[in-house]
Amino acid sequence: MSDCLFCKIASGEIPVEVILETDAVLAFRDIDPQAPTHVLVIPREHFADANALANQNPGLAGEVLALATQVATHEGLESGYRIVTNTGPDGGQSVDHIHLHVLGGRPLTWPPG
Ligand code: 5GP
Ligand code: ZN
Repeated sequence: MSDCLFCKIASGEIPVEVILETDAVLAFRDIDPQAPTHVLVIPREHFADANALANQNPGLAGEVLALATQVATHEGLESGYRIVTNTGPDGGQSVDHIHLHVLGGRPLTWPPG
């Protein structure tokens, strides 16, 4: 997807602060952090949302989730953290390339707005 922001980040065209990476998955710091730790975890390959990734490549979905938990360890979030994937307009998804948000470093309220 040549016009996809996160595909450009995955290819290195747009620079980010990389936290962890594998051949298939990239974790980088969010440009507009909503908590002391706010990291995004994406598959390098383009999938629009959680439905597409989970249905078309469930193994890769597991790899994305696994790297998100490794980010939490890397960031020292022993007291807890949150993994979120916003999906569709009502879910608040603004970038149509599946991404997990890893949030932590302060007590997080529930439910979200
Ligand atoms: P969504 O709203 O789709 O769940 O999350 C998209 C996230 O991407 C937002 O938290 C936003 O701050 C982040 N974001 C948007 N553009 C960029 C960018 O160019 N670089 C980085 N690192 N994060 C971005
Ligand atoms: Zn993409």
